[in-house]
Amino acid sequence: MVTGGAGFIGSHLCRRLLNEGNDVICLDNFFTGSKENIRPLIGNDHFELVRHDVINPYYAEVDEVYNLACPASPIHYQYNPIKTIKTSVMGAINMLGLAKEVRAKILQASTSEVYGDPFIHPQIESYWGNVNPIGIRSCYDEGKRCAETLFMDYHRQNNVRIKIIRIFNTYGPNMHPQDGRVVSNFIMQALRGEDITIYGDGMQTRSFQYVDDLIEGMVRMMQTDDDFTGPVNIGNPGEFTMLELAEMVLRLTGSHSRIVFKPLPADDPHQRQPNIDLAREKLGGWQPTVTLEDGLNRTIDYFRNLV
Ligand code: NAD
Ligand code: UDP
Repeated sequence: MVTGGAGFIGSHLCRRLLNEGNDVICLDNFFTGSKENIRPLIGNDHFELVRHDVINPYYAEVDEVYNLACPASPIHYQYNPIKTIKTSVMGAINMLGLAKEVRAKILQASTSEVYGDPFIHPQIESYWGNVNPIGIRSCYDEGKRCAETLFMDYHRQNNVRIKIIRIFNTYGPNMHPQDGRVVSNFIMQALRGEDITIYGDGMQTRSFQYVDDLIEGMVRMMQTDDDFTGPVNIGNPGEFTMLELAEMVLRLTGSHSRIVFKPLPADDPHQRQPNIDLAREKLGGWQPTVTLEDGLNRTIDYFRNLV
């Protein structure tokens, strides 16, 4: 079962699991996901699509749960922050309850946001982070942190087999064109000849991972021994400033858009880069294989078709 299976990452994961011969149930409330993302899977006998909100309990006999349900882009998770935290916390409780009842393994899609605006760079899993508990990003960051706590407590208290991955900024086809994330924004702006909007001075950094590399890491994590719970970072250590990203998107699209500077949103992390030593060691030598330039080219092709 994949919660949030009609979203950007979930749709790639459903396809991968079906291709490997699994039966897949996709649970989604279609807040940020869409049937378009999973249209190629509808009609496959091994695929079931269920409209369901994870803040309510759900029961099904399943072996594995990938818990991805949660809006991930700042404009979407800040649209209804109370709902966002309910989705993370009540969704985790409901899915962990299900995993406990049917003895399923369950993987949590956590995030690099648990490190907040980090003082330790690159981020290692043992770093507890620097998160503002009362800011505009807190509904997402603290919701995800609480979900990690719940996962660990269900594991310690009820022996539920859990896996926690901390995903760093991921991009690729099926991203929502209007979700406001930097990669989709810059590409859409470049393709339409609109101004490229850099927030702040553009010197903040992110490390961008192509979605195929993430899916490979996720599936490998689910197959690790039961005694390995994580959390484990899954990301691409290549670190870029937003200015570098904007220039690369302009070059790859051949666009003549201008770069303009807009105010930096509150609590926007200054830097972010994963240390992936643990993932390399525990996930059979897993490491990212798609460069930013290759991944952007594939994503640009996807958005060009949409435009
Ligand atoms: P997305 O917004 O495309 O997908 C989230 C999916 O969850 C959507 O299909 C949405 O409709 C669904 N959803 C939201 N609330 C729900 C609810 N209450 N009940 C049922 N379904 C619900 O985002 P994504 O980028 O695919 O992210 C998937 C997961 O990965 C999220 O949990 C996110 O926090 C995590 N993550 C993503 C990134 C990234 O860079 N994309 C980074 C870190 C973590
Ligand atoms: N950003 C930007 N212009 C945009 C959208 C985002 O400069 O049009 C910046 C944003 O301020 C942040 C970085 O790009 O510093 C990554 O933003 P995103 O929302 O993609 O991810 P997150 O901040 O959650 O890592």
